[in-house]
Order: sequence, then structure tokens, then C-alpha cells
Amino acid sequence: MSHIREEVLDANAAYAKNFGDKGKLALPPARKFAILTCMDARIDPAKLAGLNEGDAHVIRNAGGRASDDAIRSLVISYKLLGTREWFVIHHSNCGMELFTDEIIRDLLASSLKTSSYDGKQWQDSGKREGSRQGDFIDWLTIRNQSESVATDVERIRTHPLVPGEIPIYGYVYQVESGRLIEVPEATQAGRAR
Ligand SMILES: [Zn+2]
Repeated sequence: MSHIREEVLDANAAYAKNFGDKGKLALPPARKFAILTCMDARIDPAKLAGLNEGDAHVIRNAGGRASDDAIRSLVISYKLLGTREWFVIHHSNCGMELFTDEIIRDLLASSLKTSSYDGKQWQDSGKREGSRQGDFIDWLTIRNQSESVATDVERIRTHPLVPGEIPIYGYVYQVESGRLIEVPEATQAGRAR
């Protein structure tokens, strides 16, 4: 048995004990900005961008892609909660570069077990006992980080529910060094109009 549940609950008890006056924080983010980034476990948005509780919105998904659902959150973020600047942050060594729609669809059709990756190829031990429902999902995989940041900033910029005055900045986070590297063509595409 895993001890994860106990570990999480112990950590939470310690956190709540030193919660201080954070219960009085306002709901809208105090510093009025939002970050869209990848769910990668190596990325800690609070640490890499200097956030405290109550400061900013952080929207995460696989790849940090500007999916319909990410845009839904960004629209709520400005329209109801007042954010004025947005960052799109993808990152080096992203898992979304390691497969294509076709690959994940075939792996899911093979089985629902966790597949393995040998550094070149994905393998699945199943025998066509999975599901083809993966065929109906756009997995939003990534071929090139700078390109995907620029594409996503452009998509958000041109969305009819996104106002022109919100600047959108594009960055690639380096998991090797902890640094944010700007993608100038993305920031250019995302400038306020
Ligand atoms: Zn990633």
C-alpha cells in the first residue's frame, strides 16, 4: 500500500497549523495576473514566479496548452476576477513532445495500463482490451516548444472573448536551470492592442 494519502494529510495538518491570517485573503488575485502552464511535476509556479497565496491565478493542464477549457478559465480570470496580464509558459523536456495523437490512441486501444517508454518508443503490454475513445480527443501534443507557445498566445489573443488590452507574454521554462526564456514572437503576437 502507498503512504501517499497519510503523507498528504500530515503535510496539510502542518500547513493549516501555520495558516496565519491567510483565511482573510480576498478571492480576486491581489497582483492581477494569471499563468497558464504545464502540469509537469518539476514546475512550481509559486516558486519560479514568486507567488504567495492570493497573488495570482495558475491554470494548468498537460502541456500548458490553450485548450477550450484553459480559455474558459482565463475568461473567468479577467471577466469576473480582474486579472490584467497573462503568461503562457511551456517548458523544456515536456512529456507532450514524446508522443502523437496516433501513438496515445493506439496505446489506449491496447490497454488502460500505464505504458512504458524506453527513451525512443512507447510499449504497451495489453492485447487490444483498451478503448478507442481516445480517437475522439485532441491530445494537443507538442512538436516544438517555441512554436507551441506562439500558437497558444496567438489563439488566446484572437479569441472573441478575450479583450485586446490584456497583454499575453510567451515563455519557455527551462527545467534544467529554473530559468524563464522569453519567446519574443509569442510576446509580440500577444501584445495589447
Ligand atoms: Zn510538460
